[in-house]
Amino acid sequence: MNKELLKENLREIPDFPIPGILFYDVTTLFKNAECLRALIDELYELYKDKGITKVVGIESRGFILGAAVAARLGAGFIMARKPGKLPAEVIEETYAKEYGTDTIQIHKDAICEDDVVLLHDDLLATGGTMAATHRLVQSCGVKKAYVNFVIELKDLEGRKAFPENVDITTLLQL
Ligand code: 5GP
Repeated sequence: MNKELLKENLREIPDFPIPGILFYDVTTLFKNAECLRALIDELYELYKDKGITKVVGIESRGFILGAAVAARLGAGFIMARKPGKLPAEVIEETYAKEYGTDTIQIHKDAICEDDVVLLHDDLLATGGTMAATHRLVQSCGVKKAYVNFVIELKDLEGRKAFPENVDITTLLQL
């Protein structure tokens, strides 16, 4: 992966969404055609030999590359969403946040025991969101569940939110 290309196209927004937070804006990664193509190519190269049957993208920035790489891999695409968004019967997992809790859902019939799943999101911070989604997918009895993020904020040690044997890749470590 050309990390310089990613760094050049990643935009940093101070004080978003609240004062004191430095937000990494991935919209500028997706806006640049060369960068978008490189991201999809890299994800395809990482997972093309893994037998992936479903890609799960986490709302909402995980939908973009998630769907693109699913199409390249010849896999289906599943949306993991916040409560109240999915129209059919759901299964869900609740997880602790800094203040309070949050919940992530997928359709009950989205994933089955035969699936090999790639879970994707844009950024690994504390890992709470993805770890909950990973537990949800594992509860479906899948053969294997891989995890990927575009960006990993290393100081937050988000990998610790996952069991040790989980296969996690990240494309840019900050
Ligand atoms: P975590 O659950 O790992 O603490 O937070 C990760 C979730 O918050 C991801 O869904 C990610 O999209 C979002 N997130 C947190 N901080 C940032 C940021 O600086 N930039 C972007 N693009 N997403 C963020």
